[in-house]
Amino acid sequence: MVFGRERIEYKTPDQVRHMRRAGLVVADTLAAVRAAARPGLTTADLDAIAARTIDAAGATPSFLGYQGFPAVICTSVNDEVIHGIPGSRVLAAGDLVSIDCGAIIEGWHGDSAISFVLGAEGALDHTLPDGDLVAAGADLADVALVRATEAAMWAGIATLASAKRLNAVGEAVEAAVELAGEFQGVEYGIVEEYVGHGIGSAMHQPPDVHNYRTSGSGPRLRSGMCLAIEPMITRGGSDTSVLEDDWTVVTVDGSRAAHWEHSTAVMEDGIVVLTAVDGGAERLGVLGVKPVALD
Ligand code: MG
Ligand code: MG
Repeated sequence: MVFGRERIEYKTPDQVRHMRRAGLVVADTLAAVRAAARPGLTTADLDAIAARTIDAAGATPSFLGYQGFPAVICTSVNDEVIHGIPGSRVLAAGDLVSIDCGAIIEGWHGDSAISFVLGAEGALDHTLPDGDLVAAGADLADVALVRATEAAMWAGIATLASAKRLNAVGEAVEAAVELAGEFQGVEYGIVEEYVGHGIGSAMHQPPDVHNYRTSGSGPRLRSGMCLAIEPMITRGGSDTSVLEDDWTVVTVDGSRAAHWEHSTAVMEDGIVVLTAVDGGAERLGVLGVKPVALD
């Protein structure tokens, strides 16, 4: 999607507080789905858990009915990058699962995605030591991809705290992906056909947020901008295609992909990650950024 030179929606602090409420519903929903995921469940089972969690919070799913999308979350497994439709697919140990979720409260959206490797008992914690993950049956190359994608997302988010122009995010994401690849001796692909976006009174708003270096510097970062930062990284090439269901985006070379996303607000005195329970404090703290408090 390309938004061209459409107007950016700058939020008031009160509007950002509404978005925070939506963001926390998304965080809870992703946590519930992750906690429930295990081999033998279908992706439709995960969708039902998400639907119940969002409903119980008094929120509305952003995705259901969006341009005809038939489910509450996107479930993208292995070579599926994004936009996988929940259905009869049965999850298996060793699957690399990405879950994307959006929710609306009082007209304001939150949007976030996680990836995890599925072990025999459920989602594996990719922050555990490699030895533990191998013992749990994980392919360390998949775990490394999950870690690299998440780290690239946080690098991009942290950049919002100090950069003057938006395209610094793409520079930071690409540099982080390169660094992880060098460290691991692999070459990751950065998906370029899909990008992050502005978010607020609609799920997808201008501006586009690229996950790679671009020639321009992009719009000026200003207080009130809310942005979904969402790198999509593969263990192979960056080319993607769309399946016959008209939604599911897969890698052309069949390589596995990971997707991480958070919605972040740029405020007068700093940034806050709306879809992270702690506002991003833990992961941004490591990068020298302290998120602002909203209340
Ligand atoms: Mg999303
Ligand atoms: Mg998004």
